[in-house]
Amino acid sequence: MITHPFTYQAPTTIEEAVRALGGAGEAKVIAGGHSLLPLMKLGLAQPEMLVDLRRIASLGEIRTEADGTIAIGALATHRVITHDQTVRAKLTALAEAAGEVGDLQVRARGTIGGSLAHADPAADEPAPTIAFDATIRAVGPKGQRDIRARDYFKGTFETALAANEILVEIRFPAQPARTGSAYAKFAHPASRFAVTGVAAVVTIKSDGSVERAALGVTGAAAAAYRATEAERALTGTKGDAKAIAAAAAKAADGITALSDLVASSEYRKHLVTVYARRAIERAIERARA
Ligand SMILES: Cc1cc2nc3c(=O)[nH]c(=O)nc-3n(C[C@H](O)[C@H](O)[C@H](O)COP(=O)(O)OP(=O)(O)OC[C@H]3O[C@@H](n4cnc5c(N)ncnc54)[C@H](O)[C@@H]3O)c2cc1C
Repeated sequence: MITHPFTYQAPTTIEEAVRALGGAGEAKVIAGGHSLLPLMKLGLAQPEMLVDLRRIASLGEIRTEADGTIAIGALATHRVITHDQTVRAKLTALAEAAGEVGDLQVRARGTIGGSLAHADPAADEPAPTIAFDATIRAVGPKGQRDIRARDYFKGTFETALAANEILVEIRFPAQPARTGSAYAKFAHPASRFAVTGVAAVVTIKSDGSVERAALGVTGAAAAAYRATEAERALTGTKGDAKAIAAAAAKAADGITALSDLVASSEYRKHLVTVYARRAIERAIERARA
């Protein structure tokens, strides 16, 4: 039950939503409600006004632009992203991560914008978002700005988004030919959140060697991160089992790993290396297919 009083607005344009968010009192955007409403029921969030985005139709769109950029609207649900043919073909790791979120009900209501704005350290979609080098587009009272996903996740439930900004879309640049990607996850046995999730995006050369590698890791640290040591170790190799194992072994280098009842920090670091190996293997397989 939600015990504190609040008002509610459901604007039909982004401009109206930004105005409502900047109005008097503490206002919060609501999208799928699958993170915000549980917090409100627990009394951990007590906004004075909810600004519901769901009547802004354009925020649900997924479109491919002339230069190959895939722009995913903030209101695209995890379920839509899982099944979208373009996302499955071009951003496979993202489709896989969305398909791993919670259960059917959560995937049907929860949105990618909500997930990235909420920034739970165990959320799935941040991993492919940083691995694909996406850009987060936000609109606030001063207009529009783009934030590199790598600079966006600041810590647990902490992002570069200002309180008066709305995340409107996530922009994924076109990937080069011979690129494959995959997401591998160790799920929490009850909630299905990621104890560890790794997204790998690998581009190979015509001789099969690794031209470029990007690894986004979630669940292991306070915020999703790029495993740069592992990326460096994989780049330029033949992408064989030995090179993959050596690179994956570096995927938790330098992090302060989370620790809880499900996994100690030492075990989490181990999981990162195992799931990095699995994600890289599948990404390379797909890049070569
Ligand atoms: C039982 C359960 C299991 C779950 N399991 C997983 C899991 O395995 N993996 C996983 O990744 N997630 C999981 N989730 C979380 C789920 O993915 C949520 O859908 C997601 O975290 C938030 O999306 P939402 O659209 O529901 O956002 P809301 O709950 O509506 O909002 C969340 C926060 O983001 C802000 N916000 C939302 N949209 C915007 C926007 N466009 N611009 C600015 N701020 C915005 C809100 O103000 C609020 O602070 C689970 C949730 C539940 C209830």
